[in-house]
Amino acid sequence: MTKTVTYSPSFTLVPTYECFNRCSYCNFRQDYGAAWITPEETYKILKPLVGTGVIEILVLSGEVHPQDSRRRAWFEMLLETCTTVLSLGFLPHTNAGILTYSEMQALAQVNCSMGLMLEQMTLLDVHKHAPSKIPELREQQLHWAGALRIPFTTGVLVGIGERLEDTLQTLEIIQAAHQKYGHIQEVILQPHQPGSQQVWAGKPFQEKDLVDLVYLARALLSSEIALQIPPNLVRDLVPFLEAGATDLGGIGSVDVVNPNYDHPLPHHLTEQLRTKQWELIPRLPVYPQHYAWVKPRVQPALQKWLKNPIIFGRSFEENRENCLPQWTEPSQ
Ligand code: SF4
Repeated sequence: MTKTVTYSPSFTLVPTYECFNRCSYCNFRQDYGAAWITPEETYKILKPLVGTGVIEILVLSGEVHPQDSRRRAWFEMLLETCTTVLSLGFLPHTNAGILTYSEMQALAQVNCSMGLMLEQMTLLDVHKHAPSKIPELREQQLHWAGALRIPFTTGVLVGIGERLEDTLQTLEIIQAAHQKYGHIQEVILQPHQPGSQQVWAGKPFQEKDLVDLVYLARALLSSEIALQIPPNLVRDLVPFLEAGATDLGGIGSVDVVNPNYDHPLPHHLTEQLRTKQWELIPRLPVYPQHYAWVKPRVQPALQKWLKNPIIFGRSFEENRENCLPQWTEPSQ
């Protein structure tokens, strides 16, 4: 029997690479002075993508310190970027790091979902120059997103000096927040893979250990939460799918966080998975259980996509049943 795994046809837009944090495994950040995007540039980059099958625009930004006098301008830029994304009919999903409650509330009005990796809920050496990675701050973001009814993506980053207990505790914190608010739509299990720009000399996270983690996460997290494995950071996807991974995340443009690891092309991935009896199907950046949560300014674009028969021949409504998580039990 053919089983299904989802992905989001997406494009990543970076409003700025400037970031005041210095995570030592980072392959993304640039110093103060890095360029900020304008609405004209956003339009110029995205207009050619209309009608190509891209649905999600992942707005992924570096962070300006909350006490920096430019914080307000930075935040206005994020709002403008999302407004331009929406005006072109795409669905924005923003991850811009730590936000104030009112910033999160304002950004939610122009996003169909949002995200923030918890990474690890233990303070680690790799984060010692990254104030935004203070565990309590990130946990608070998860709770604020729930209180604001924002369909939310989060996840763990593994292989950055944590112990397995730390990762499990992080997953328990995610599950506890979800039990309270019901807002977690997917959890990314992201393995550290060294990149050429990072200063930290950490090793890649072992693939076998990541498969084991999928089994553990599947047992810990509610069944409606999708488990996501980045396909460009592992060699063989099938063991992950058999362990309970249900989604491959946004595919279709450069992985700006891991620029040394190219995304596979969706049609290559489709062929490759088909030979192993898995069908790759597109999804929206918001999951069916949260369609009604999407804010009024974004609903028209969402409704348009829900009626779209899509390049793949069937609508998302028809795919709805297939998008439910499927997994096999771990072998004893
Ligand atoms: S990982 Fe994110 S928060 Fe850390 S330095 Fe890089 S861009 Fe900034």
